[in-house]
Amino acid sequence: MARLHEYQAKQRLRAHGIQTPRGDVASSPEEAERIAGEIGAPVVVKIQAWTTGRKAMGGVVFVDTPAEARAAAKTLLAMKVGAFPVTQVLVEERVAIRGELFVSLMIDDAARAPVMLVAPGGGTGIEERADSVHQLACAIAEGPRQGDVLAALGGMGVDDETTLRLGDAVGKIYETARACEARSLEVNPLVVLDDGRVVAADCRMTVDDYAVFRHPELGIEIAREMDHPPTALEKVAYDVEQADHRGTFYFAKLNTEAEAGTKGLIGFHGAGGGGSMMSMDAITNAGYTIANFTDTSGNPSASKVYRAARIILTQPGLVGYFGSGSGVASQEQFWSAYGLAKAFWEVGLEIPAVIRLGGNSEDRAVHILEKACAELPAAVEGYKKDDTPQMIAERFDALVQAAGGKTHDVRSRRVPAFVGKADAYSFPITGGTVWIDAARWGEIGSVVVEHSHGLLKDVGGRPALAVAQEEIAGKDSELIACEVECRMAGADIVFVDLDIPGLEGVVA
Ligand code: GDP
Ligand code: MN
Repeated sequence: MARLHEYQAKQRLRAHGIQTPRGDVASSPEEAERIAGEIGAPVVVKIQAWTTGRKAMGGVVFVDTPAEARAAAKTLLAMKVGAFPVTQVLVEERVAIRGELFVSLMIDDAARAPVMLVAPGGGTGIEERADSVHQLACAIAEGPRQGDVLAALGGMGVDDETTLRLGDAVGKIYETARACEARSLEVNPLVVLDDGRVVAADCRMTVDDYAVFRHPELGIEIAREMDHPPTALEKVAYDVEQADHRGTFYFAKLNTEAEAGTKGLIGFHGAGGGGSMMSMDAITNAGYTIANFTDTSGNPSASKVYRAARIILTQPGLVGYFGSGSGVASQEQFWSAYGLAKAFWEVGLEIPAVIRLGGNSEDRAVHILEKACAELPAAVEGYKKDDTPQMIAERFDALVQAAGGKTHDVRSRRVPAFVGKADAYSFPITGGTVWIDAARWGEIGSVVVEHSHGLLKDVGGRPALAVAQEEIAGKDSELIACEVECRMAGADIVFVDLDIPGLEGVVA
């Protein structure tokens, strides 16, 4: 289930004729001040976080002037909800409320139909007033029956005209949900103002993941179940997954700092659901805080594993890299080994990495990983299916202890000197560029040809493509393998420069 921000959900309500307080979203105190100035009246400043009861946690602040809005935004933007910093606040005109109504729509799976809940009073404490909640059955095309709606509004104590206006808004809330294919939509509260207007003061909406692609108007960045608004790094990871459908890649941020009493924050890289869960338990039991959950599985390309590793290593404060998933993957594990080895080389890995590469061709995979990483400052060890997650978690712990609290520097990345040079040989591939040091080709080009999976050849002492450009463009995994193999063979004249759009902005 994908979630909308309050301001996104309110946009949808407005598109369907429901009024909301004037306002806009801000990501800095200055912006909040400017918006408050434009509104030119007392405002309410609210954190944009996916949680109920923001008011109770101090996330809703009422102020009278733009300067106060700025100060309130400063405080709110320094808040955290769970492990996640608040990055946006909504600045809205403060409205004079006469009455509140709780309106909620969800899909009743048993009835296979939408159902609406309506309760006078709205606001907080709705759970304790269960007996005042009216449950309205909905016909898919028509929504709730008007008679039921009006009966539910009886307890509002407002005049007939206002009751009709509220009833009309309830109908429009239904239309909004239907148009957006919402799984749930809650307006709490829908309010009647002193001047009689009916306004949605708050709104929460979720949409089925599989419906999101039909609704670009919703502005949902990640069509996946998450408990927090996507972080910058999660957006980068999601774009990687969308651009490459070979295997699955999933990245979710869990913690930004080590929990008290643990031995440090670690990057986690799993493969396959069940094995990943066991491995996360093992590393947690060994005393570590997991910074992220990552899964690359379903026969991922080497480039996808490479990008996953680079993304994991963009998290500040890591003391180690722990990779362990299903011990019996039927995919060829050496592709993962090449991807990891390339990423670790580029960042010049200084923190220990323990990777379980259990499954097909695990011997070859472990050999590649360990040999390719032998020159790195960090200890990098590969393990196989018979090595239990618990055993390798203990090994990881020993290596991290031996490293003495060293943390990974997210800014470190190296590319060979010949990359980008005018006299280098280069050609584009999907998502990047391959570079070859033409100056040293005469001496060791034959090693490159040998490891090129038949993709490269020598023509008159110069490197050349052995296949059509269109064919080589999709051979990123083979070319990563070539780069790693050549480096191991002492022929370090090949480099595959792969784009990860947006990653540099996260590091900066
Ligand atoms: P929540 O705590 O996360 O549900 O955040 P809401 O946006 O619903 O705000 C909490 C409560 O603050 C609402 O239930 C209202 O009672 C009150 N509130 C929100 N906006 C306004 C406003 O513009 N004027 C007034 N008077 N009260 C408001
Ligand atoms: Mn609310």
